Amino acid sequence: SNAITSDLLSFTRSAEAIRHNCQWMAGGVNSNFRLNISPTPLVIERGEGPFLYDVDGNRLIDYYLGMGPMILGHNPAALTQAVKRQIDDGILFGAQSAVEAEAARLVCQMVPSAERMRFGGSGSEVDQAALRLARAATGRRNIIKFEGHYHGWFDNVLWSTAPAPDAAGPREAPKAVAGSKGQLADTADTLVVLPWNDPELLEARLAQGDIAAVIMEAAMCNAGAVHPLPGYLEGVREACTRHGTILIFDEVITGFRLAPGGAQELFGVTPDLSTFGKAIANGFPVAAIAGRADLLDMFVSGGVVHGGTYNAQPIAMAATVATLQSLKPSLYEEIAVNGTRLMDGMREIFARHGVKAVVEGFPQVFHVAFGLEQPARDYRDLARMNRQAYVAFTTALLHRGVRALERGAWFMSIAHDDAVVASTLEAVEGAVKQIR
Ligand code: PLP
Repeated sequence: SNAITSDLLSFTRSAEAIRHNCQWMAGGVNSNFRLNISPTPLVIERGEGPFLYDVDGNRLIDYYLGMGPMILGHNPAALTQAVKRQIDDGILFGAQSAVEAEAARLVCQMVPSAERMRFGGSGSEVDQAALRLARAATGRRNIIKFEGHYHGWFDNVLWSTAPAPDAAGPREAPKAVAGSKGQLADTADTLVVLPWNDPELLEARLAQGDIAAVIMEAAMCNAGAVHPLPGYLEGVREACTRHGTILIFDEVITGFRLAPGGAQELFGVTPDLSTFGKAIANGFPVAAIAGRADLLDMFVSGGVVHGGTYNAQPIAMAATVATLQSLKPSLYEEIAVNGTRLMDGMREIFARHGVKAVVEGFPQVFHVAFGLEQPARDYRDLARMNRQAYVAFTTALLHRGVRALERGAWFMSIAHDDAVVASTLEAVEGAVKQIR
């Protein structure tokens, strides 16, 4: 009704700026994952705690959190102060610094499997480093990846990340579906795509003895937050060991988010290699590869190359140290209380309005799937959700001051407190009334 719509937020200045900026930036944005957002990609002026302030003067409760990194919320004082102190000492040395050694020590202390590590600039890059190490260590060429799991935007891994199910072949033997035009088609020849959470299919393929690495999100999070089935990760670990295959956990989302030591700590399963990004530096461009010392030391004496001008950039390292020092176990407990309250509150609202939806995942990162009756087991389950209804929902939420990813998961931070969750649930109630 008009009474309701008159209070709704408008985004006309963002839309106008995006149109204007298209003359310089392709699409007015700098990542394809920021394109095609309903009603418009936003232009933000400032972030503070759980809030973003946009050019239309709106204050938005933010569940994008920069696509995941901002576990401490926007602009936490401990981090901005550390960065301001560091910047006076210089910008980039092409050499080592005390601050990067401290950051590395913290990563190795927090991550159970991290005997040794290296920093990189993005999740996409360190995933490449992990695959290269695995191939060098095994002398094998092929990699198993799982349908719906995302490991960056490079040619050899941007396959079957979000395929249309009717184009993806049978569930048991998925076709590798390219994510982009211009992608080298023969990179798919080195990939075996399998459904996740299916131990028998994995065992059968590993038994052929030609797999260098299994790479997976230890809990599926990029496309929607799905738990590993009980015993699945343990089974994968055991099978990889038995078949001489390197197990890589891509913890770019789960790392420093599900627990101080990531999914590997939460589930108690130890990969050979794991990769990190996002929450490791609360928004600064930092990533890491960590794992077995004998594998990481192949960068030193095994003839394996890993580079990057900006690796361990000192200011980003100061942000990393400040972030990791803030990630005490009590922080996860606090996020879990508020995340659980939000998930339960949404379930209650959907039930009361007769909306069929599953709210699934972890209190620190979860998704909402309209049209599903039970938690998803793999990508094919997730792909059955009603995406059109979900986009209508996130659009209705944005007009009520709540910003949630229209493709993917809700991210929580320590700044999303009781009051923020209560305001969010009010917006959810209004959005549900509008769209049902
Ligand atoms: N791996 C996972 C699980 C991710 O979610 C992402 C990014 O969304 C990446 C890798 C790639 O990281 P980046 O965007 O920093 O290159």
